[in-house]
Amino acid sequence: MTKPHLLGLSLAQLTDLLVGGGMPKFRAAQVWDWVHVKGVLAPEDMTNLSKGDRAVMAEVLDLRLPSVSVEQRAADGVIKWLFKMADGHEVESVYIPEETRSTLCVSSQIGCTLTCRFCHTGTQALARNLTAAEIVAQVWLARKALSDFNGKDAARKLSNVVFMGMGEPLYNTENVFPAIHILMDEKGQGFGSRKITLSTSGVVPEITRVGEELGVNLAVSLHAPDDETRTAIMPINKKYPVAALMSAVRGFKLKERRRITWEYVMLDGINDSDAHARKLVKLIEGIPSLVNMIPFNVWPGSPFGCSSPERIDAFAAILDKAGVHVTVRKTRGEDILAACGQLRSETSKRNTISLQYPSVVAVYGNEGQKTRVHISGDTD
Ligand code: SF4
Repeated sequence: MTKPHLLGLSLAQLTDLLVGGGMPKFRAAQVWDWVHVKGVLAPEDMTNLSKGDRAVMAEVLDLRLPSVSVEQRAADGVIKWLFKMADGHEVESVYIPEETRSTLCVSSQIGCTLTCRFCHTGTQALARNLTAAEIVAQVWLARKALSDFNGKDAARKLSNVVFMGMGEPLYNTENVFPAIHILMDEKGQGFGSRKITLSTSGVVPEITRVGEELGVNLAVSLHAPDDETRTAIMPINKKYPVAALMSAVRGFKLKERRRITWEYVMLDGINDSDAHARKLVKLIEGIPSLVNMIPFNVWPGSPFGCSSPERIDAFAAILDKAGVHVTVRKTRGEDILAACGQLRSETSKRNTISLQYPSVVAVYGNEGQKTRVHISGDTD
């Protein structure tokens, strides 16, 4: 029988399991603290455990960590890791440091079923869902590499997590939701709900649950303001058309001082006209919003080009003039191919995954002035 993985268990589940194996309850809480506060996973390094307690852990838990196949550090501080799972599948995670925050972009599936036409990942078939433990492991390993387990009150080197990597998180809710709960546990890693962003391509029936069960930030990969354009680039729009998506987002339980992030990739001649911009303004009217415009990263064989800088500026100006908060993403980690849609170009031969949105944006303030940079999906 397969044993549950230590990183995929909530405190209550871990306690039940260890107590069931004969460990005292207070020790189970100490194990949780070792793992999620001190960043220690090996029982032999948990110095307050008895030999018997360590034996219980080894008996009832899977303690294997994904291995680090590759770690690449870019000149601008971006770090890309290639993590190898127990079954040989590899997953990439990208760390993006900024002045006021630092974000890890994580993946939720190996491959993706959704075949968005602008996405390099969409050319890779779904192999399987990631488990909750594998999702938490991406964060845990990144924090470990950053020496970020310094106690509850220490300043964080990794402050934010975005589910914008490979896969559709709302097609893997059975693992993504528990993983987010584990990451948010105040007695553990303690990521606040403001610090986590879940990005969906528009899985309408699950959107309400994100607000009600998790309370994290919601980003929507919109990319077009009407059915005709959106269906042409995102097949999921046939199943969940724009009107259904908007109705789900309008019903989303948005916490105070938060907003919806709309991802909008700029595809030359496809979705980037003035008319598209005006439709977009109308579509999201009344919803506290941030439109995150993403200059398209052209990958080998991609059917699209990127909109010109002038077109991007004109599009942003229409939104800005209408009072919509808009950002234009700036690429980070270029020297290690960590930018949007580029990762797989380098690693596809190794059966790895790519991330779409691990990059930084320039924020437009009043009158279209670029004022500062920040990470896509963050709302604080
Ligand atoms: S953009 Fe996201 S949902 Fe669409 S194919 Fe790529 S990974 Fe899948």
